[in-house]
Amino acid sequence: EIHLNHKAIGLKIENNRISEVVFENTSSCEKISAKADHYISTMPVKDLINSLEYDIPQEVQEVANGLLYRDFITVGLLLDKLKLQNGSNLIPDNWMYIQEKNVKLGRLQIFNNWSPYMVTDLSKVWLGLEYFCNEGDALWNMEEAEFIDFTIDELSKIGVVDKKDVIDATRIRFKKAYPAYFGTYNRFDTVKEFLNRFENLYLIGRNGMHRYNNMDHSMLTAITAVENIINNVKTKDNIWNINTEKQYHENKLTAVENLTGDVEKLSYNPAEYWEKTENAYAYYPTVKHRKRFILNSLKNFKFKENTFVFDYGCGEGGVLSGIREKFNLTSQQIGGFDVAENVITKLKEKFDSPNFYHEKLPVLNKKCGVIICSEVIEHTEKYSDIIKWIHDNLDDNGILILTTQSGKIHASDIYTGHTQHFNIKELELLLKDEGFRIQKSFLWGFPLFTLQKYLTNINFKAVQKNYLEGELSLRKKIVFDVTYFFYFIH
Ligand SMILES: Cc1cc2nc3c(=O)[nH]c(=O)nc-3n(C[C@H](O)[C@H](O)[C@H](O)COP(=O)(O)OP(=O)(O)OC[C@H]3O[C@@H](n4cnc5c(N)ncnc54)[C@H](O)[C@@H]3O)c2cc1C
Repeated sequence: EIHLNHKAIGLKIENNRISEVVFENTSSCEKISAKADHYISTMPVKDLINSLEYDIPQEVQEVANGLLYRDFITVGLLLDKLKLQNGSNLIPDNWMYIQEKNVKLGRLQIFNNWSPYMVTDLSKVWLGLEYFCNEGDALWNMEEAEFIDFTIDELSKIGVVDKKDVIDATRIRFKKAYPAYFGTYNRFDTVKEFLNRFENLYLIGRNGMHRYNNMDHSMLTAITAVENIINNVKTKDNIWNINTEKQYHENKLTAVENLTGDVEKLSYNPAEYWEKTENAYAYYPTVKHRKRFILNSLKNFKFKENTFVFDYGCGEGGVLSGIREKFNLTSQQIGGFDVAENVITKLKEKFDSPNFYHEKLPVLNKKCGVIICSEVIEHTEKYSDIIKWIHDNLDDNGILILTTQSGKIHASDIYTGHTQHFNIKELELLLKDEGFRIQKSFLWGFPLFTLQKYLTNINFKAVQKNYLEGELSLRKKIVFDVTYFFYFIH
C-alpha cells in the first residue's frame, strides 16, 4: 500500500523494536497506523527522533534538534529563447554554477539538454534556477510572483535572458534539501548509536542518514538495508559505511566484501575478547606467523637509540615484546594503542611505560621510526583516519608494516569484529594517496590459510569453544603447532 500525502508522525516501540507507525493525512489530519516487521526511514533524522514514542536521552534530543539544513528554492522559467547563445544554437550545458557576485542565483539548469523528453516543445527553452537559502529568510519569504520577477531580473542582469522572452514560470520551495555538516553534526554519532539499538529500524538515503548522499549512494544504502534484512544481518555498519571515505568518489575504494551473508554479527567487545583468549592467543598459528613475518620485515631496518616503535592495535603486546627482544630496544622505545582498556593497563604495568594508549588516534609526543598496524583496519569503518594518523606520526624515513584481510568474511572474522575486507590494489591506492611509498605488498594465505578459514567456518562455535578461548591444553597446543609448521614452510 502506498499512502500519498501522509506524514509519519509517531513510531511506537516495544522491546527495542519499532512496533507500529502512526501517520496522518496532510489535508484532513486523519490518523492511521500500520504494523510492519521492518521500518525503513528516509525522513529527516531530526523528525524521526521527535516522532519516537520513547524516553529519549537528553543528549540525543539535543544533537538531533541541533542538526541543520540548507533549504532550496527552484524556479522553472519557460522561454522563447535564451539571450545567451552558442552561435545560433542553444548553449550545450546541462547546468552551470553562477559565479557573478551581483546575483543570488546559485545554479542554472537547462532542461532541454538533460533530455528532450523533459520539454514538450523543443523550440522553447525550460530553465531551472536554483537558490540555496534558509527557511524563513528573505528569499524564502518572498511572494511567488515577486520572487519570479526577482529571478528574471537576475538573469537579465547577467545577460542570460531577455525579459520579453519569458512565457511562463513556476516556483517550488523545498525544505531540508541539504543536510548540513555544521550545527551539532560533529556529535551525530550519539544519535546514530542511539538509533542503532532499534533492530528493525533502518536509516537510509540523504536526510534519513543526515549525509550528503546523492541518488547513487542513497540507492546503495537502500539496497544494503534490504540485503541485511533478507540475510538476517544485524549490523547497520555496512549501511553507515557507504559514502564515508573520501576516496570512495575518486578511486572507488570499497572493501571487497562488506558484512553480508547468512551469518549473524556477534556482539564484539575487544576487552572481553582479550580476556577470553589471553591464554591461547599467543599460540594461535596465524598470530605466530604474523609475528614472525613482522620481525623478519624489520631485519634490515637500522634501529637507533631513539627509534620509537609504535603498534597501532597492539592487543596483548606480543609483537612489541618480540621486537623489543630481537632488536634490543628499551621499554621506552616501544608504545602502542588498543581499544581494549584492560590490555593497555596491563602493558603499562608490564613495560613500566606511559607510551600505551587506549584513546583512538592518540597524540604522541614523538615521531615513530616504525609503526605496526596489524589486523586493525578491517575492524573499523574509519580506516582512512588511521592511515592518515600513521602518516602524520611517522618519521620522514619511517616505515609502516600493515597487515589486513582480504576475501570472504567468515564467522571467525565476525567473531573478532571485522566490518570489511580489502582489495590489495585499492589499499595500495589509499596508501599512495596519503603519501606512502610502497616498498613491498603481497597477498598471503592461499591455499592453507584459506582452507583453515573455510574449515573453521563449518562449525565455528565449536572451534571458538574448543580452541580459541580458555586454557591452553596439550591438545590445543599440538593442533596449533602442527598448523604453524605448515604456515612456516608455506
Ligand atoms: C537540488 C538538488 C539537486 C540534486 N541533484 C542530484 C543529481 O544531479 N544527482 C544525484 O544523484 N542526486 C542529486 N540530488 C540528491 C538526490 O535528490 C538525493 O540523494 C535523493 O533524492 C535522496 O533520496 P531519499 O530517498 O533519501 O530522499 P528523498 O528523495 O528526499 O525522499 C524522502 C521522502 O520522504 C518524505 N518524508 C519526509 N518526512 C516524512 C514523514 N515524516 N513522513 C512521510 N514521508 C516523509 C519526503 O517528502 C520525501 O518524499 C539532488 C538533491 C537536490 C536537493
